[in-house]
Amino acid sequence: MVIAVAAGKGGTGKTMVAVNLALALHRRGLGAQLLDADVEEPNAHLFLKPAWEEREEVLLPVPTIDPELCDLCGECARACLYAALAVTPQRVLVFEELCHGCGGCSLSCPAGAVGEKARSIGSIESGLTAESLRVARGVLEIGEPKASPVISRLKRRLDPASVNMIDCGPGTGCAVMTAVRGADVCLMVTEPTPFGLHDLEMALDMAAELGVPPLVVINKDRAEPPEGEPLRDFCRRRGLEVALSIPFDPEIARLCSRGSNLVDAFPEWQKRFVGLYRRAALIAGGEAA
Ligand code: SF4
Ligand code: SF4
Repeated sequence: MVIAVAAGKGGTGKTMVAVNLALALHRRGLGAQLLDADVEEPNAHLFLKPAWEEREEVLLPVPTIDPELCDLCGECARACLYAALAVTPQRVLVFEELCHGCGGCSLSCPAGAVGEKARSIGSIESGLTAESLRVARGVLEIGEPKASPVISRLKRRLDPASVNMIDCGPGTGCAVMTAVRGADVCLMVTEPTPFGLHDLEMALDMAAELGVPPLVVINKDRAEPPEGEPLRDFCRRRGLEVALSIPFDPEIARLCSRGSNLVDAFPEWQKRFVGLYRRAALIAGGEAA
């Protein structure tokens, strides 16, 4: 089973939800693992403290041009959909950061002047926590604009025998869509604020486009209106289930800022996160534990 944990914006607590859910299920003996797909700024390891034991580079093929064979005809630049090539009177320029490694330029070159080299755009790391929970993360090279290939590579580590939590990045762009695509259910972590509601709507549109059923988790929740009511009204109108509410509590905020976990500090949260999994499994059409 694959549970994506997403949010329309950063700072909503999605990593906290993904981490505590993974810990709760692992301790319950459900064979969980966590994949941190927030590749620009992975931070689940700060809470789980795994010992990294393996690292794999993510390489993307980019073209090389043989000046001996190239007659500067310009076919390759015309074939490139990503404006990654420019033909000057002297030579062909390759803008490697724009290249998607599609190979179109090589196919279009009548002179056979286009070769290939591998360029590192990031890495995948994997390890175990002290209690043997498997954690893997994608790390994008600084300044590298394309996160999706790193996330796709990370997702090769999905384990069909486990409950896989994917901690997605913020927003609803390409990178998050790559992370959420194919998940059985998407937990939408939101806050009871106007910004939270706006970003939740965008995240729901994304999940709908991908055909992934959503389940709402409200973080920093307040029992008293007006903060919570517009969000809950919205959920009611859209027929969305609020599967978990995490209260606005300075003690929880302090815990998180110290890199501690709810399920360690408050035993009742172990049960609550297992309950969240059960709802997710039901929504996904799988079997609850
Ligand atoms: S298509 Fe081939 S020959 Fe033409 S400019 Fe590009 S690399 Fe040179
Ligand atoms: S591999 Fe594709 S994206 Fe990269 S330069 Fe060639 S045509 Fe453009």
